[in-house]
Amino acid sequence: MSNQTHSPSVSSGTPGSRRVLIIGGVAGGASCAARLRRLDESVDIVMFDRGPYVSFANCGLPYYVGNIISDELSLLVASREMFHERFNIEVQTETEVMSIDRSARSITVRNARTGASRAERYDVLVLSPGAAPIRPSLPGVDLPGVFAVRTIPDSRRIRSWIADRSAKAAVVVGGGFIGLEMVENLVHRDLAVAILEKLPQLMPSLDPEMAVPLTQHLGEKGVHLYLGDGLARIEKRADGGLVVVAESGARLPADLVILAIGVRPENPLARDAGLQIGPRGGIVVDAQMRTSDPNIWAVGDAVEVHDVLTGQETVLPLAGPANREGRVAAESIAGRTTKFRGVQATAVVGVLDLTVASTGASEKGLRRAGVTNFQKVYLHPGHHAGYYPGARPIHLKLLFSVPDGRILGAQAVGLEGVEKRIDVIATAIQFDGTVYDLAEAELCYAPQFGAAKDPVNLAGMLARNVLNEDMPLADWQELAHTKALLLDVREPQEFARGHIPNAINLPLSQMRHRYVELPQDRDIWTCCGVGQRSYYVTRFLAQQGYRTRNLSGGYTTYKMLKSAGLVP
Ligand code: FAD
Repeated sequence: MSNQTHSPSVSSGTPGSRRVLIIGGVAGGASCAARLRRLDESVDIVMFDRGPYVSFANCGLPYYVGNIISDELSLLVASREMFHERFNIEVQTETEVMSIDRSARSITVRNARTGASRAERYDVLVLSPGAAPIRPSLPGVDLPGVFAVRTIPDSRRIRSWIADRSAKAAVVVGGGFIGLEMVENLVHRDLAVAILEKLPQLMPSLDPEMAVPLTQHLGEKGVHLYLGDGLARIEKRADGGLVVVAESGARLPADLVILAIGVRPENPLARDAGLQIGPRGGIVVDAQMRTSDPNIWAVGDAVEVHDVLTGQETVLPLAGPANREGRVAAESIAGRTTKFRGVQATAVVGVLDLTVASTGASEKGLRRAGVTNFQKVYLHPGHHAGYYPGARPIHLKLLFSVPDGRILGAQAVGLEGVEKRIDVIATAIQFDGTVYDLAEAELCYAPQFGAAKDPVNLAGMLARNVLNEDMPLADWQELAHTKALLLDVREPQEFARGHIPNAINLPLSQMRHRYVELPQDRDIWTCCGVGQRSYYVTRFLAQQGYRTRNLSGGYTTYKMLKSAGLVP
């Protein structure tokens, strides 16, 4: 029973001081508080969080479960005391904000330990309540042993559950970022892990073919994948364990279940207060992070942000944007005119040695947004010079607008050097860069780090070749219907190991004396392992009067597209 009372008194802070109250004390809220103090020593700043900590590393939680981070204290980036001593910011933990009274400019807060409520007056209110894990209303999702991962206590409970029951098997429902990070860490704890994902692919932010190397990698690592199959219910077994029942009827036994099917903006406070909420469920803010109420700002996972590439409003639950938005809000509160640039969805996830990273729009995102004037190239270069031992392929897809060559997005998967390439392309996008800029980018090179033509340069060069028609591209999507001659220019033994159906083989090494065998009255689509030799052939044949196009990324891309069901 709570002894909740309503507004017996109103805390008003230092008389005469402007009072800034912040709801949520982690990425967005804490950034806002600290930045605001650096800009203005005169304001009262009070930060509320319903949890026991502020400024903790949510991104580190999966690694705490995996015992890679073994000391819970390492997750605490800053403490209540530190905020007080260093910044004169008051932190009230285990204090939940229950409601906002905009006309009285006050909030009602409830102390979780005592249950007592009180009102707090504000001049300025900042909302950074984050996003809540989606918990579908299905039978069994509240059973003991079914967890979401949002807070330190959540991770602590998972750790104890694994240890107390000597857990051997886990099912992760959801194959996005958090699900995959949990997979890695549960495998690290020696659990047998299965993923149940409703979509036919992992990592929904990627185009389906780019998720294929990830799927294969996880399969090779012994992770059981159930793709294209949703959660129906969770049952308790007689021996105390659990069974995840999929929509297909598949039954996956588990000692614990992680629900990682996404998050949704935690907007009830804002909604109840009558603040404008957008179609994606996030709080609507302007470029200075101000809500529809001029005295209230909102930042982080709870808000809708402008996607600089598609021009649409979106939600993007990532720590970088939350931190930057917190700073922008602080600057705005302090009277500056700083604006938030918007987001381009740069993200990375590591899973069992594989890195998956992306920036900007995906092909499916562009199509959803109605963008049609774009092209794409695939490439599969080594992460460093091939002559230096240990080069690992990076599967890279670059999307760019036609005809101006503006970079629209990139996705990459590989064992090494993936995030570096995506970060370079992300920065180029931020400066409105084109594929010509990528081709010209002057990047670090020594054999163990890269290549004289870095994968980023190569991606730009390929795209430039497409734009200036040195390398007309064949459309992979047309493969099923094309009347073109499919010409595989690899050596016969490579061709014998696998090729596109109906392709004929005429290797590059014999091309110059045998090309006359090719029909001049048909379109010719060239293919090789990764698209390089076929590019040489495209150039050669074009100069002999043939109509040729290159299949970007070659047979490697074909296999990815085929596994994703995108080509026959
Ligand atoms: P949060 O950091 O979630 O903070 C919101 C706080 O508000 C919470 O502490 C909550 O308790 C409190 N709160 C909510 N409502 C109230 C209320 N009414 N009263 C009082 N307090 C309230 N992002 C990345 O970019 N890279 C990663 O690798 C990454 N890994 C992640 C791993 C996990 C397991 C999780 C959960 C998230 C991860 N993220 C990652 C996302 C990132 O943590 C969030 O985008 C970021 O923390 C959002 O910041 P925020 O301030 O909006 O919300």
